[in-house]
Parts: sequence; structure tokens; C-alpha cells
Amino acid sequence: AVRPLIAGNWKMNGLKASSSEFEAILAGAAQLSSGIDLLVCPPATLISAFADTLAAANADGKLKVAIGAQDCHVNASGAHTGDISAEMLADAGARAIIVGHSERRADHAETDAIVRSKAQAVWRAGLVAIVCVGETQGERNAGHTLDVVAGQLAGSLPDGATAANLVVAYEPVWAIGTGMTPTAEDVEEVHGFIRQTLTQRFDAEGAQMRLLYGGSVKPSNARELMAVPHVNGALVGGASLKASDFLAIAAGC
Ligand code: 13P
Repeated sequence: AVRPLIAGNWKMNGLKASSSEFEAILAGAAQLSSGIDLLVCPPATLISAFADTLAAANADGKLKVAIGAQDCHVNASGAHTGDISAEMLADAGARAIIVGHSERRADHAETDAIVRSKAQAVWRAGLVAIVCVGETQGERNAGHTLDVVAGQLAGSLPDGATAANLVVAYEPVWAIGTGMTPTAEDVEEVHGFIRQTLTQRFDAEGAQMRLLYGGSVKPSNARELMAVPHVNGALVGGASLKASDFLAIAAGC
């Protein structure tokens, strides 16, 4: 069976004072099944401090919690004012990096080709790439969901993906931050399609890659969504900001 992953994407939220929320996540994680992995992706400014907090709380390595980042530059270093490389994020303590989130694709005009380069940068730094795909409301209404997702997978995933270095997150754009979610049947259709596509391209590795659902996941709907075939966890935005909600989602997995 594929090991579930519950990932929290804090987006542009969190100050130093938020370390208490992270500590609450660590305290709660000790009560969770050891069969689940948790990932917290705070803003880049907090990665180093959270990594220190995690290391202090997890000297025996029993907590299945890691820190991640939300984006990276394609290059390792250089004249790119304001950007942060995957190597820097790894140095700060990140173990995974989200690339191709729909907010990056929309706000920063990231194309599939850019997302693919970023995923390669994540691997160059030795980290796990979490690549996001998903259709807009208009694309769904027009019946183009699977075509859009197929195009994003083909364009955004580099060759050489394995179950250890890649996680795919299906995040319908219209479900992000709206409180709206697809039906379980709709999620099953897309995740089944993604699984089939990954298995065709990456063989046995594709059959084992973790597929996360993201978009308005909360404690009240997590259990149903996590029970859908080929859903191996969640990428949680708003509800990941509160330790109790994030832990309740993980407990429902
Ligand atoms: P929400 O959970 O706030 O809808 O955000 C989902 C998301 O974009 C996670 O990356």
C-alpha cells in the first residue's frame, strides 16, 4: 500500500509567533498512527526555525514529520534578486518543495516547462518535488478536466520521476480556498486517470507515487476524500494553519 502523506501549505501566512502552532502539530503528531507522514510547508522565512524545533523534538526520529517549502528558483545560485534556490531550502532544513502550485502558475505566469525545470532543481538539491496540477472551473464546465490534467502531467513532470522523489497533487483551481470540493466520484475519476498516466510513463514507480488531493480539505470532509481510491493523502491550505484542524485531517486518513 502507498504510505499516506498529509501536507500543509501555509502559503503567505505565519510569523515567528506561529512556532507555537508548529509545536502543537509536533505534540499531536506523537499521537498519530506511525503509518502516516506529515509535511509542513511554512513560508521560507520560518523553515530554518521550524527545522530546529523539529530536530529538538524528534531526537529519536519517531515523529514522521518533515518541513517543506512552497517554491524554488530553477538555478542553484546566482544573480536572481529575491529568489531562493532548492539548495538553500535544503540547507535551511526543507525535505520537499511544492512546485507548480496554481497560485504560482497564475500569479507568476509559471508554465509547465518552468514547473518541470523547478522539479529538476528540487531533485538536484536531493529533495522531493510535489508537483501540482488541476483544472479551472471553466475547464471543468467545458468537460476538459482530464485533457488539462494530462497536458500538465506531460509538461510538468521530468523524466526520471520515482515514488521516492515525486508526489503529485491534484488541486482543482476552483476548489482552492472556496469551500467547494469535487464529489468523491469526480476525485476518483481524476486520481484514477493520474494513476494510469503515471503508471504508463513511469512503470512500477508510477504505481507507487503518492497522489494528494488538495482544495478545501477540512476535518469534516477529509475522511470521505481520503477514502477515495488512489488518494494517498492531502495538500491542505487554510485548514493547515490550525494545528487542531491539521491533526484532525491526518487522524481521518
Ligand atoms: P485550501 O485548503 O485553503 O483550499 O488550499 C488548498 C491549496 O491550495 C493547498 O496547496
